Amino acid sequence: MKREAILKEYKDKFMEKYTHFPKGKYITVAILRQAESECIFRTEGSGEGLNKERVNLGIENKNKEFRATISKRKQTAVERRTGREYLRSKNLLFETSKSEICALNKNTPCGKCLDCMVNGYAVGEGGAQRSRIVYDNAYSILPFNIVTGRKTFNALYDNGTMRDENGKPSSSLGEDEYVKPGTVFVDMVTFKDVTFTEFVYGLSNILRSKRYGAISSRIGKIKNTILTVCFSDCELFSNLELTQSIYDKLQSEENIEFPLDIDNVVDSAKLAFENLKKEVYGDVAEVTSDELKGLLQYIKNIFMEDKASELFKEQSTQYGE
Ligand SMILES: [Zn+2]
Repeated sequence: MKREAILKEYKDKFMEKYTHFPKGKYITVAILRQAESECIFRTEGSGEGLNKERVNLGIENKNKEFRATISKRKQTAVERRTGREYLRSKNLLFETSKSEICALNKNTPCGKCLDCMVNGYAVGEGGAQRSRIVYDNAYSILPFNIVTGRKTFNALYDNGTMRDENGKPSSSLGEDEYVKPGTVFVDMVTFKDVTFTEFVYGLSNILRSKRYGAISSRIGKIKNTILTVCFSDCELFSNLELTQSIYDKLQSEENIEFPLDIDNVVDSAKLAFENLKKEVYGDVAEVTSDELKGLLQYIKNIFMEDKASELFKEQSTQYGE
């Protein structure tokens, strides 16, 4: 399918060109993030256990329990890295004022590349772009004590050894908590005032990211499934509400044994989204499943045929205009 044919009913929901004035065009992407290996999600360097939050299990079910979470910081970091890796390989990261190639976690971003412009940047001496992709913490559907276990880990650092770059031995030797494979997290990512190409960039980063743990370790594998895409003129409900509503549905069908059946979860999640959508005070338009399929196939094709870089290049040229 041609680019013009993708989401053509929603053409006015995208920005034609980037502008820094807010226009109230929201695109929400609901995602299931499924652990495919053992995962350890914790705040780096905190020495604490896995990230978790105590919340109501459902909207109807008022019992309070801990849920495992994947922090929005973790998601952003991983998915930006995926995007930048691609941009770097296509020479689409630009030079900074210090004549270095734009990189994350440096004080001088280029402020001109697709990633700086979509995911945001700040420079000391002025100049900033707020992120136009808003992440939220992802919640496990089932309670923490069901989706986690304890075992001895030899977690490796990114350099593939048991020692970090300063020679400090891994602190994760010994018993550690981990998220079990098969755990399903619910997530919503919101795009604000983006062009079609910027949307494709952000969405492709979610689709192309597979590993949310240390690069060389076998842990941290995640499969992302896009549930739905929804356009609106205001923010929708919270990710937690969606998670709770899915939990209520699964419980009413007595389908809450670990590991959850993923097809069941997808069906319940779609229904839950549908119901919560009705309570929004705004203009809300959700794609049909055929439109979603078309969009995902289009993204797959442009990466397979190496056309994504052309699209991204065209977009980054626009910022300079
Ligand atoms: Zn940049």
